[in-house]
Amino acid sequence: MNIVLLGPPGAGKGTQAKRMIQQYGIPQISTGDMLRAALKAGTELGLEAKKFMDKGALVPDTVVVGLVKERIQQADCAKGYMLDGFPRNVSQAKTLDGMLKDLGQKIDHVVSIEVPDAELVKRLTGRRTCRDCGAGYHVMFDPPKKDGVCDKCQGQLYQRDDDNEATVSSRLKVYNDQTKPLIDYYQGQSKIRGVHGVGDMAEIFARIVKVLG
Ligand code: ADP
Ligand code: ADP
Ligand code: ZN
Repeated sequence: MNIVLLGPPGAGKGTQAKRMIQQYGIPQISTGDMLRAALKAGTELGLEAKKFMDKGALVPDTVVVGLVKERIQQADCAKGYMLDGFPRNVSQAKTLDGMLKDLGQKIDHVVSIEVPDAELVKRLTGRRTCRDCGAGYHVMFDPPKKDGVCDKCQGQLYQRDDDNEATVSSRLKVYNDQTKPLIDYYQGQSKIRGVHGVGDMAEIFARIVKVLG
């Protein structure tokens, strides 16, 4: 099963993807995580991507398409995968469709998580992530037992550079202008599975499982 997780920054794509890995036994492919890993490793691609990420702008299509193309052909993707944060515009979606056609694959479902902007700002500015295992937290909505420390691995929690109010507002604008049109694009393929993204994390997960039938 090949799934696209669609939703604005802070909608809970990463949070729900972690639960879906367990449920469906397919890997999460997050282009944001891959770009941050490239930056941490100090690669040229990572340093180039940072210029765009810091502004809240999209990284050029060729960069992310290349990453995804390589990743979906790895062995653990044989039974399917979840794309988290990709595609981000119609051009990426069209390129993905062409790429999958060549591989004899297709997207089965697009889970579209809907959350109002005011809630997104609160979620993003309070988001914390473990440096070591990548687990996600929120200072108010999902706090770790000990301030700044990961419950799962005792790693250090950090705040992403782009989760400040100014960059968040640029990212929301980019979402509305460039990513939201994907809802119509995939609606045209009858693949949109809409999910109300406000409420308890476990409850939202149950809604996702339900729409995926
Ligand atoms: P969030 O989960 O908050 O939506 P991501 O981790 O998905 O954030 O993305 C962080 C940043 O990485 C984006 O603002 C953008 O600069 C870059 N990025 C991630 N995925 C893509 C993509 N598919 N195309 C272009 N840029 C991307
Ligand atoms: P995305 O990957 O879509 O950008 P995340 O999964 O990283 O979003 O979630 C953004 C922030 O919101 C995180 O701090 C997370 O703990 C928190 N969060 C996720 N789902 C919910 C929810 N249902 N209610 C409140 N906070 C949530
Ligand atoms: Zn951790």
